[in-house]
Amino acid sequence: STHPGTTDAPASAALLERAARVIPGAVNSPVRAFRAVGGTPRFIREAKGPWLTDADGRRYVDLLCSWGPMILGHAHPDVLAAVDEAARRGFSFGTPSENEVLLAEEIVDRIEPLEQVRLVSSGTEATMSAVRLARGVTGRSVIVKFAGCYHGHVDALLAAAGSGVATLALPDSAGVPTEMTSDTIVLPYNDIAALEETFAARGPEIAAVITEAAAGNMGVVPPAPGFTDALRRITREHGALLISDEVMTGFRCSRAGWFGLEGEAGYAAGAPDIFTFGKVMGGGFPAAAFGGTAEVMGHLAPQGPVYQAGTLSGNPVATAAGLATLKGCTPELYPRLEATARTIADAASAALSAEGVAHTVQWAGSMFSVFFREAPVTNYDDARDQDTAAYGRFFHAMLDAGVHLPPSAFEAWFVSGAHDDEAVGVILDALPAAAKAAA
Ligand code: PLP
Repeated sequence: STHPGTTDAPASAALLERAARVIPGAVNSPVRAFRAVGGTPRFIREAKGPWLTDADGRRYVDLLCSWGPMILGHAHPDVLAAVDEAARRGFSFGTPSENEVLLAEEIVDRIEPLEQVRLVSSGTEATMSAVRLARGVTGRSVIVKFAGCYHGHVDALLAAAGSGVATLALPDSAGVPTEMTSDTIVLPYNDIAALEETFAARGPEIAAVITEAAAGNMGVVPPAPGFTDALRRITREHGALLISDEVMTGFRCSRAGWFGLEGEAGYAAGAPDIFTFGKVMGGGFPAAAFGGTAEVMGHLAPQGPVYQAGTLSGNPVATAAGLATLKGCTPELYPRLEATARTIADAASAALSAEGVAHTVQWAGSMFSVFFREAPVTNYDDARDQDTAAYGRFFHAMLDAGVHLPPSAFEAWFVSGAHDDEAVGVILDALPAAAKAAA
């Protein structure tokens, strides 16, 4: 490969070669492959605080944070202690256990309109189940989603999805029969008129609108003023449910996720009917959830007729990790995350400006991304209209200097409470040369 950095990672390169024989594309999730940026994905052997250490023993400041979950930093002592304590008491019971109650209470306490949550093991399961629940509650089939929003690899939602689908420039996924997406309507994000037209034409068929509370999977694209309220108003007028996917934003944008960002969040017209969560609430372990009012959630089995289940749902070790992580998500954490993110984003912007590289930075709480284009990004078409090759050069220069960014221009950058002055210093030092490489 002509990409810089590859020769610095011989142990990762050797593992990649072995992986490619036994794992399709050498990775267990496509976003981990360096498809868009080229070069050798680093095999990480351990992580502590804001640092990743790869198979060659090289250290990187982590701005990926496992794609969101590691909000307290890696191997946080409190989370480690909770996991250790839980694991010593057994790994999985297949019965109800106390940690499930504690985690559900913690989530319900934080987000005012929530009365009940059902715990699952991944964000994909959460959105899949939320869609089924919405269809069960309304007796309708059609789901509206937005281009560039990613809700996991659910058949019905793999239409114009962002994230890895955008990185690989796939139109959609093979293996998803048209019947699975024939009840999915894809609209442009932030387009109230398109939403109104769709509901005017097909309102009585629409079970739900699902949206990322603030989009993070086409890069960070917050809802335009009025968009979230329009979603609430229009769905309510037509008897459809509003599903707010907070898998990425939940407990990340504030203690109560995007929903908790009063005013800015835009829920003056009312709260969503169903929320989905993942990432942070598992603290790096497989725990996710969907929730709503007791009335809506009462449609789920065993009370109601909508079936949903899981052998490992509410796993005692995963829930212990999630609970300890949420306990660490204090009101004081969020201004700290935002200050760290601002320092990094301002320095990135200054470095890119100094080299004349067109860019724009967009925010959702402490989540941000740097788009390699001048104009603001309001939807998927905008997001795709950026200089991804420049991002690739920037990415590799940062990696060479010891900073691990997301390996795609379509992803959010994440910081943690463990990103201290030393870690931020490494990032600031790396930026001027990376901007030069991007130019
Ligand atoms: N929804 C959103 C908004 C996400 O960002 C993701 C993952 O990136 C998912 C759902 C799917 O979650 P998981 O990867 O845990 O299945």
